[in-house]
Amino acid sequence: MAADCLFCRIIGGGIPAAKLHEDALCVAIADIAPKAPVHLLVLPKEHFSGAPEITAPREALVGHLVKVAADLARERGLEPDGYRIVLNSGAHGGQTVFHLHVHLLGGRPFAEMG
Ligand code: 5GP
Ligand code: ZN
Repeated sequence: MAADCLFCRIIGGGIPAAKLHEDALCVAIADIAPKAPVHLLVLPKEHFSGAPEITAPREALVGHLVKVAADLARERGLEPDGYRIVLNSGAHGGQTVFHLHVHLLGGRPFAEMG
């Protein structure tokens, strides 16, 4: 828990947000500025800033975040058409909140990467 972190405050309940999923390791919320008809964020309860901090002990946690995103995609009926799971890192990656999170985007097609 980092007191000055937006996502830690959401996880802790200090900033209200509907929790679409919660388990011992993570919380899922709707993105406040959705870029697709379905745009969810999966947040680990442990605070760490991003991909460079994915140390070996966190490998299973990050795998869990991706699995939860895929489970949410299935629950929302996104599997037949597909969806995108994204983890932005740093300035060039477009990261704006420095508490690692996984995006689930679906409900529309996405262009090729590039
Ligand atoms: P990033 O750009 O760091 O990968 O993604 C951060 C995401 O958090 C953005 O898509 C942004 O819209 C979302 N976001 C920023 N502030 C809030 C907030 O207060 N509540 C929610 N639910 N999402 C937020
Ligand atoms: Zn945090």
